Amino acid sequence: MSELLDNIKDVEKNIDSSVNKSNRNREDVTLIAVSKTKPTEMIQKLYDAGYRDFGENYVQELSEKMNSLPDDIRWHMIGHLQTNKIKYIIDKVYMIHSVDSIHLAQAIGKEARKRNMTAKILLEVNVAEEDTKFGFTSENLEENFRQIKDIEGIEVLGLMTSAPYVENAEENRQYFVKLRSLMVDLKDKGLYNKNRFFLSMGMTCDYTVAIEEGADFVRVGTAIFGARKYV
Ligand SMILES: *Cc1c(COP(=O)(O)O)cnc(C)c1O
Repeated sequence: MSELLDNIKDVEKNIDSSVNKSNRNREDVTLIAVSKTKPTEMIQKLYDAGYRDFGENYVQELSEKMNSLPDDIRWHMIGHLQTNKIKYIIDKVYMIHSVDSIHLAQAIGKEARKRNMTAKILLEVNVAEEDTKFGFTSENLEENFRQIKDIEGIEVLGLMTSAPYVENAEENRQYFVKLRSLMVDLKDKGLYNKNRFFLSMGMTCDYTVAIEEGADFVRVGTAIFGARKYV
């Protein structure tokens, strides 16, 4: 397991060089350690090293892990979420990155109102237009954003995307540029007027480039925890 700490050190080094290259500050980038399929012992080890932001994709796995790990972990829900599962996690996760329909946004708002809370969400955009991925399209994002932004019980804090798996991170730069320009468009049109608007983009294969293009959250799994085995 000392490999785990070596791995995250390497990731930190890469993050440092990307923030330096793009004149950003390390504090402006949050590294989310994506722990899906990985045991709680590994999460605890990173927690002990000071990490607090973890990403999970599946509601049941997330619920089980939460129960045996410290309360001050910020859990980021990054996987496709079904409306009937919202109730299990809504008051336990820090942010939901994967809101991919108006229907889901409304259902989250409804559950949040029941609990007198505001859920922090990001809208997922399928900028690369992959058939296998969820999310709004670059074309329909604005009309959906207009309808979602005023739903009570949620606060839209930004945009998220998963770019294709690539060997060369540069190939995905175009998608990160695109996501940022979509955000700038929403601001220019006066649809979003708070000063913080987050971009969640960049995974193991491309987080360095995502940071150069303005990522606030990078979601890194394999580079930290090693390859996943699916059963
Ligand atoms: C699994 C997953 C990640 C992490 O992927 P790696 O390639 O292992 O870094 C990031 N984002 C989402 C949405 C994921 O499902």
